[in-house]
Amino acid sequence: MTDTATTTDARVNLLGLTRSELEAFASSIGEKPFRARQLMKWLYKRSVADFGQMTDLAKDFRARLGTVAEVRVPEVLLRQASADGTRKWLLSMDGSGNASQAIEMVYIPEPGRGTLCISSQIGCAMDCSFCSTAQQGFNRNLSVADIVGQVWLANRELGNADQFAGATADRVITNVVFMGMGEPLANYRSIVPAAEILMDDLGFDISRRRVTVSTSGLVPQMRKLAEETNCALAVSLHAPNDALRDELVPINRKHRIAELLEACWYYVERQNARGITFEYVMLDGVNDKPEHAYELVELLRGKPGKMNLIPFNTFPGTQYKRSTPAAIERFRDILNSHGVIATTRRTRGDDIDAACGQLVGRVRDRTTVRLGSKVMSVSVQP
Ligand code: SAH
Repeated sequence: MTDTATTTDARVNLLGLTRSELEAFASSIGEKPFRARQLMKWLYKRSVADFGQMTDLAKDFRARLGTVAEVRVPEVLLRQASADGTRKWLLSMDGSGNASQAIEMVYIPEPGRGTLCISSQIGCAMDCSFCSTAQQGFNRNLSVADIVGQVWLANRELGNADQFAGATADRVITNVVFMGMGEPLANYRSIVPAAEILMDDLGFDISRRRVTVSTSGLVPQMRKLAEETNCALAVSLHAPNDALRDELVPINRKHRIAELLEACWYYVERQNARGITFEYVMLDGVNDKPEHAYELVELLRGKPGKMNLIPFNTFPGTQYKRSTPAAIERFRDILNSHGVIATTRRTRGDDIDAACGQLVGRVRDRTTVRLGSKVMSVSVQP
């Protein structure tokens, strides 16, 4: 049990506890460990936060829980919905409603699946030159409860599965990706238990191939992760050579591409995983030329990895521009025709900005929020 899972009044936030920690917690207040499993069912299968509603628990246990424990989730500051079904939330993590302590969470429904993109830190210290989170600097690591609380909250917010094309019969969220704000592997201590709760069949019960940690390339932690958990791994590559990657992803000055790729192949071998997903942001004239694609072919041909090309999302003050659709297509074709599987990530939810732009002057309470890689123009929901 970590101290970050507790509140100022020392009540334990149950969302921060893994199954074994919850069993230890139950024992510590004189209950049998199986009570922990009952609790998990209420917490995760039924999204219930109020101990009073947990009707198969003894009354005095419920009363005791009320004094020593709580289910505390992030506070929603703003909600945004796109015509394509994408949803975004601005969440306050300290209960103060303070936007400088806020993070973003995004839900993307697609045919056959629903992906929730969560944050692992408030801000980020990695300083990637094309990422707007870098400009705001690092604020703090999120706790296990902060991370699990995002998924819990999304389940509650999204409600019943019927309304989502991407959802399966009994669940709205089929995939969780650590691709919001922050560098998950710089918050290793929290993301490992959080991933465990996401994958636990008494927790969110998400399949191990559908929980993805994305990293800018913290090599020692990647190797540790290979030993300690079994989720999927995505790596932000963004450049095919060290000179260019040093500029775009500064952690490369510490861990070179060769070392990074070795850790990737180790991960695949150790995990018996299908492969690594490499993210590659497409920056006009910077990393999107045919020679870059050929360099990538040299690095990745025959290896268990696939390329995910991400059209750059612009933000105020950036020096970069999004590659043209023709450049992205040419780049993808070179990779695909030389034995490196590559797909282009579809930009989702961008119509929200457009819609907001059109509403200028008509919506009174408007705020521009810059978070993660996205620039959101949002209207405050009552
Ligand atoms: N720190 C983690 C998670 C970051 S967000 C990581 O680096 O992998 C997920 C992806 O969005 C990363 O690949 C990140 O490099 C990318 N990204 C950041 N800023 C972006 C931007 N402005 N446009 C498009 N993708 C961006």
